[in-house]
Amino acid sequence: MAKEYTSFEDFGLNRQLLNAVADMGYATPTPIQQKAIPVILAGHDLIGIAQTGTGKTAAYLLPLLYKVKYARGQYPRALILAPGKELAIQISENLRGLAKYTDLRHVCLYGGIGPKTQIEELEQGMDFVISTPGRFLDLYRRGALITKALRYMVLDEADKMMDMGFAPQIREILEKIPRKRQNLLFSATFPPKVQHIADEFLEFPHKIEVTPQSTPAETVEQYFYKTPNLSTKINLLEHLLQDEDFSKVIIFTRTREIANNTFKYLDRKFPGEARVIHANKSQNSRINAINAFRSGDIRLLVTTDVSARGIDVENISHVINFDVPRIHEEYVHRIGRTGRAEKTGVAISFANGAEEIHLNEIEKITGEKIAERPLPPEIVAAGTSKEERIEIEREIDKIKREKDPGFKGAFHEKKKRPVFHRPQQKKIRKKRRRR
Ligand code: AMP
Repeated sequence: MAKEYTSFEDFGLNRQLLNAVADMGYATPTPIQQKAIPVILAGHDLIGIAQTGTGKTAAYLLPLLYKVKYARGQYPRALILAPGKELAIQISENLRGLAKYTDLRHVCLYGGIGPKTQIEELEQGMDFVISTPGRFLDLYRRGALITKALRYMVLDEADKMMDMGFAPQIREILEKIPRKRQNLLFSATFPPKVQHIADEFLEFPHKIEVTPQSTPAETVEQYFYKTPNLSTKINLLEHLLQDEDFSKVIIFTRTREIANNTFKYLDRKFPGEARVIHANKSQNSRINAINAFRSGDIRLLVTTDVSARGIDVENISHVINFDVPRIHEEYVHRIGRTGRAEKTGVAISFANGAEEIHLNEIEKITGEKIAERPLPPEIVAAGTSKEERIEIEREIDKIKREKDPGFKGAFHEKKKRPVFHRPQQKKIRKKRRRR
């Protein structure tokens, strides 16, 4: 029978790591940790299918910290690649906690700030490098990052990396680091493009999966409201947020503009309780907003999918999909923010006519039903403007056409009547009169 790993002591890790684990408050290993830690310690390549919130970061950090063991030499021995700054920072915070009783050195590299400090840090000697692909290559080209000592490589959130178009950079990095190394790939989902990159660099990997593909955390209750238009969404949002159970809420929107407008509205209705993050905001303002949210100084965080990558905040009570994500896998990422590490959470979606179809598709991926809740009686569904109605109908047509290329479309763009300039119109009128 396979050995059971019910406590961290069972892995044979050293005392420094076990003490740090205890300080972090981890009592028992999560399922991904139970499965991944022994495989990584044994030196195998690994594919781990696990979403954020399952404890995947510690699942690879602990065995790597055990193997890299103590500070040695000038050049890094372990490289962890993450798709974005927030995730990189979160990994590095996790590493700082787990390595606190060791002398291991690590650096977190990402773009958006000048490279000077990062170069200086690297010059002091490094054991672990956590980086986004772009910044890694930038520092490599400047000669600041020497890769010859790398023996361990982790690709975290590989599906996000592929979605964000990082495949060429990953391939370039793989060419620049020593061939003899242990490779680990973690991903929330396992679409073909992740399979391809895995085939390219992992050798006889062990594949472990903690939840079936694209299944949201089981501890998350999911439901949706039919909201015919934007103003109904806003009214419903305001109504729901009056309930104190909504104690730590992430609100996802489709675009930066909707994020900003939603934030402005919330800031008026709930002054000082909300912040917004999106790609147009400075790195500092994003980190401040996330920290304020984490510490409970603010209750509401409005964000887009891209900006939410890697946000690690505990005890999120509700995820609200103000807009249903058009990239359906994002739904799983979004709702993975709540119900983390075996706590319960609620994910609520607001859906207009087109978004109901997207929700159906999401149900097909996750294999889980998202139940409808009737709008609270206080919410009077406002009328839909012509512009918004057209936009929704166009989207419905687009979805149907994607599914069935022969679909003609219920909504046809009206043929534009030729617009004449005045002089021309006058001439036409004259002509008509002459007739
Ligand atoms: P991750 O999936 O790595 O983003 O981890 C999600 C959250 O779970 C983080 O806040 C971790 O600190 C926490 N965590 C990781 N491992 C454990 C564990 N064994 N017990 C309790 N919490 C954990």
